[in-house]
Amino acid sequence: MPAILTSRFLFGPGPSNCYPEATAALAYPVIGHLDPVFIERLDRTCAGLRTVWGTANARTLPLSATGSGGMEAAFVNTVSNGDVAVVAVNGLFGERMCEVARRCGATVVRVDHEWGQPVDAERVLAAHPNPKVIAAVHAETSVGVLSDIAALGAGKGDALLIADAVTSIGGLELLADEWGIDVGYAGTQKCLGVPPGLSPFTVSERAFERRIKDPRSWYLDIGLLGGYVGAASGARTYHHTAPVTMIAGLEAALDRILAEGLGAVQARHRAAGTALQAGLQEMGLELFAAEGARLPSLTTVRVPDGVDSAAVRSYLLEHFSMEIGSGVREFTDTVWRIGMMGPNAAPASVTLVLGALKEALAHA
Ligand SMILES: *Cc1c(COP(=O)(O)O)cnc(C)c1O
Repeated sequence: MPAILTSRFLFGPGPSNCYPEATAALAYPVIGHLDPVFIERLDRTCAGLRTVWGTANARTLPLSATGSGGMEAAFVNTVSNGDVAVVAVNGLFGERMCEVARRCGATVVRVDHEWGQPVDAERVLAAHPNPKVIAAVHAETSVGVLSDIAALGAGKGDALLIADAVTSIGGLELLADEWGIDVGYAGTQKCLGVPPGLSPFTVSERAFERRIKDPRSWYLDIGLLGGYVGAASGARTYHHTAPVTMIAGLEAALDRILAEGLGAVQARHRAAGTALQAGLQEMGLELFAAEGARLPSLTTVRVPDGVDSAAVRSYLLEHFSMEIGSGVREFTDTVWRIGMMGPNAAPASVTLVLGALKEALAHA
């Protein structure tokens, strides 16, 4: 028998600890993907996703893919052969968008930002006179930065706006329709408090009309996926076998979030992030992300000079069963990333992380 790992406090960039309602639902009996009970579950899940996305889009569904699969779906349905994609890059996931868009055949206009800074909407909007798409990450998990998607939506003109909401959905304010998001993708394992494996995805009517009609991906073709959830016409067509267990987990988490109240859940995330950031500064640590653009759900903090980042992370894991994340790329050894997501976004988590980190810094 392989060893069963002890449970962890997951304060990394993801997955977060899951809502107990979500993990309980993973143990529901496995039922058929065409069972009326499951069809109702999928309908309720899509409805709940509309609420957390802030959208009325008929084509809002849990893609059977991780967040990166959602990113692929966003680009493969909107760009091909020489279509111009303006991509804001202020971290790892913006970079990944460029690569995905390139592979879809797009001509990528990359607008780079210093890591730690939010997306500069003016610069992004001025980068090309008439792009097919403009893309940006709402909450850049690699650097702990929140960007203003509404400003891009207001100035997008004819372009379609693609937004990555993986680390904001279910935890931070997200208003897809109001902000002008045409194609949005997310993930379940961050603020939604569900294990990884699904990508909440939404497509506006405008984007659907202007989609690539014969995209290079069959599986991620939004034209076919609309039938999978019975969007628009209500007629369902077999597309692939729905991951019934994962969708039960997502439905339960959405119920849990909406029962608490989306506004209350967002306030809880904001309060936890703000308290953590204040506590770290009180300890004399320096935050990495620019002031005014700090992500509540994921805090980046500089490793103090002379401190061995990996030793501190190992100490936390060994003594507190607690995971925090390292930095990304050139910041691997100089930045920590601490998540306050889903059920972790709570005052007790802040106390626990700050106390554990103090001890680790003294002993590691
Ligand atoms: C985690 C993350 C992704 C990728 O999601 P996976 O589920 O790991 O494929 C994409 N974008 C952002 C901002 C993320 O934080």
